Amino acid sequence: MTFLLSDELLAGMRDRAGEYDRDNAFFAEDLADLQAAGYLAAMVPAGLGGGGRTLRETAREQARLAAHAPATALAVNMHQVWVGVGRYLHERGDSSLDWLLREAAAGEVFGFGYSEPGNDLVLLGSRTEARPDGAGGFTFHGRKIFTSNSPAWTRLGVLGLEPGGKGSEGRLVHAFVTRDGGGFEILDDWDTIGMRASQSRTTVLDGAHAPAARVMRLLPPGPTLDPYVLGIFTSFEVLLSAVYAGIADRALELAVDAARKRTSMKTGRARAQDPDVRRRIAAMALTQDSTWLQIDGITQDLDASAADPALDRGAGWFRATAGLKVRVTEAAREVVDQAIRVSGGATYFNGAELGRLYRDVLAGIFHPSSDDSAHATVAQSLLGPLDD
Ligand SMILES: Cc1cc2nc3c(=O)[nH]c(=O)nc-3n(C[C@H](O)[C@H](O)[C@H](O)COP(=O)(O)OP(=O)(O)OC[C@H]3O[C@@H](n4cnc5c(N)ncnc54)[C@H](O)[C@@H]3O)c2cc1C
Repeated sequence: MTFLLSDELLAGMRDRAGEYDRDNAFFAEDLADLQAAGYLAAMVPAGLGGGGRTLRETAREQARLAAHAPATALAVNMHQVWVGVGRYLHERGDSSLDWLLREAAAGEVFGFGYSEPGNDLVLLGSRTEARPDGAGGFTFHGRKIFTSNSPAWTRLGVLGLEPGGKGSEGRLVHAFVTRDGGGFEILDDWDTIGMRASQSRTTVLDGAHAPAARVMRLLPPGPTLDPYVLGIFTSFEVLLSAVYAGIADRALELAVDAARKRTSMKTGRARAQDPDVRRRIAAMALTQDSTWLQIDGITQDLDASAADPALDRGAGWFRATAGLKVRVTEAAREVVDQAIRVSGGATYFNGAELGRLYRDVLAGIFHPSSDDSAHATVAQSLLGPLDD
């Protein structure tokens, strides 16, 4: 597989990653480099002006980026997810997001404004009010948290709930607002222990407007098999998994390096000769082998299912991709933890790359699907829904 991002470009990003982390600074230079390399249009079909990369290829490349600059990869992931949704729909004959694919190819940067305080329904409900503008569009009023890439997105995908009428529930409104259109405030509240360069700040929506042409779906609250939601869910879970797999790949590399460089006073030999260290490193590699089999397998099936309905798992994609996300992010935490044990106390100093990966990898547990919700999805697929 050929990669869009050169080793040299990635090396520059790795150099900057520590500085961004220390200064709690946005990854502005990385973003400019990624734009110039055509990376933000990588998954846009060639016929719409992009690189025509598959989901599988993009997952591999996102992991490679994460292995150099985790927070940059995570924030850019939100853009890639939207391109992934556009591609998912386009390949299945639905052109409703072709405008997004064209705009991504033209340089627009897409953010993901879905998470809200205390909303564990995620895609299935919203605390944000979507007020009809009378012309088929909506204005959005509410609080979105953890909006990655806050300083730079130019288009923001949002979810809100239309007020219900008499005796009827409102509909969920999936739409896009623009930075130029205003009607929102970005708070300067990002000061976290990890993924600092992502600058995933709070966005207060106060009248941000989506015209009718940018209202993508009006859906009843609750579970749905609408392709738009399936596209978001599957693209999000697999590309997110790739970011954390990339962090673990890098942790393994650093552990191997440390095992070769550190010596034991007890034996006078490199730690790489210590059977315990060897076993730890082998276990990490075995975990990563399994991680990549899972990511490659699911992305391959997702890519192929557009043309081959026999591969389409329907509702089964929720179980498959939520499970993937939970297994991969948990495995990545374990791999980074083991890498730290192999590498020793030097990793405990601020500025150590592995120490930063340890903080970054923790973020994996907060993204949907949570461990609990993935288990609930699997239980439902085996046992049916809970009784009322
Ligand atoms: C690095 C990183 C980047 C992310 N990027 C994005 C992104 O780009 N787009 C996106 O949509 N999501 C993003 N997420 C969000 C993520 O997916 C979760 O939604 C987020 O981590 C919140 O998790 P939580 O619900 O466990 O948080 P919680 O800790 O439960 O809640 C988060 C906040 O909401 C408040 N809160 C909790 N319950 C209530 C309540 N009932 N009423 C009022 N306030 C309440 C809490 O006090 C807290 O301030 C990102 C997350 C991380 C870690």
